[in-house]
Amino acid sequence: MSLFDGRQNGIREGAWLAVDLTSGQLVAIGGGVPPAESDELVDMHDQYVMPGFLNVHTHIAGDPRAFDGIFGSSEAESAVFAYQNLRELLQSGVTFARGLGTSFDVDLKLKKMMRTGVMTQIPHFQPSGKAFVMTGGHGDHANGGNRVDSPDEMRKGVRQALKVGAEVIKMMATGGVMSPGDFMDDPQLSVDEMHAGVLEAHHKGFKAAAHAEGNPGIQNAIDAGVDSIEHGFYVTESEARQMVEQDIYLTPTLVAEWAIPEFGQGVLPDWEVKKAADALEDTYVNLRKAYEIGVKFTCGTDAGTPFNGFDRTPEEFELLTKVGMTPFEAYTCSSLNAAELCGVADRYGTLEVGKQADFQVLSADPLADVKAVQQRDKAVYLGGERQF
Ligand SMILES: [Zn+2]
Repeated sequence: MSLFDGRQNGIREGAWLAVDLTSGQLVAIGGGVPPAESDELVDMHDQYVMPGFLNVHTHIAGDPRAFDGIFGSSEAESAVFAYQNLRELLQSGVTFARGLGTSFDVDLKLKKMMRTGVMTQIPHFQPSGKAFVMTGGHGDHANGGNRVDSPDEMRKGVRQALKVGAEVIKMMATGGVMSPGDFMDDPQLSVDEMHAGVLEAHHKGFKAAAHAEGNPGIQNAIDAGVDSIEHGFYVTESEARQMVEQDIYLTPTLVAEWAIPEFGQGVLPDWEVKKAADALEDTYVNLRKAYEIGVKFTCGTDAGTPFNGFDRTPEEFELLTKVGMTPFEAYTCSSLNAAELCGVADRYGTLEVGKQADFQVLSADPLADVKAVQQRDKAVYLGGERQF
């Protein structure tokens, strides 16, 4: 096989991987003749093997065909979508996903079922449960958000979420691009409210993420000490410098913003399509500056928002190249940065001895062409076992 391990910017020709199928771990990586003691050999010559993707921003209970679909109309429906969507993520090459806002907390409930093995062909998964929102703010839907309006309410709410299984905390620092009634520049949860959430998450060893699209909300989230700014479309240069100092990641979710003008024509009102197209142009400019300043970007797609299906993660890398990244740099948003942000870099993200054998098999070189990862009929492996 031709191996891209996710860490080195290059392809190792004639490589082999040895996997312990009991633990799912890579036990050896080499070149030339594979070890003779292998029980089973899988021939992947003429194929390119690279790590499975990590997608740190998904709404697994969402329905991308519905315009307010991430909030789900019933718990049963949300659970069915969640299972289907997780499978679709894996089929597209995502071997680790993070939920950042799930109606009815279905992801917390499903995570318990995942441990029993009743759900098959799904990626490793880190759930948040419902997002934390202010009354009347972004995500304040009956089933979609945990409503909090003071640092004390945040503290209690986050403690409750952690008690029932949340492994990451999602908070809304601003309004949204497409949500009726609120705007990207609306500041929402305050610095003090978010800081209380950050502290509680950190006390349990978990991360806190802030939805922050415009200003002054991005600044508020940075001052509150979150671990990642999600979207960050209007990040300024001084905010970018502060993010570098505080080691805060940025998840640009470009595919979510790109999908609305791309597929919304004739479906959404013209003004709405234009607003999204204009915001996308601004985003490329702002994010390019932030990237040059040294902010670490991660891979996340906001899957579940309108037209933004669970098969689109591979397209995010092509969009990342428009921010000024090489294909290799775009992949490191997943293989290195997303794994670090999620606190799982010791197990996932790259193909190295001691890590999980979670990978995808492609027919073209992903370093030569960023579109190679968009192959629909790729093979996907988890722990060395083929899933799709
Ligand atoms: Zn989102």
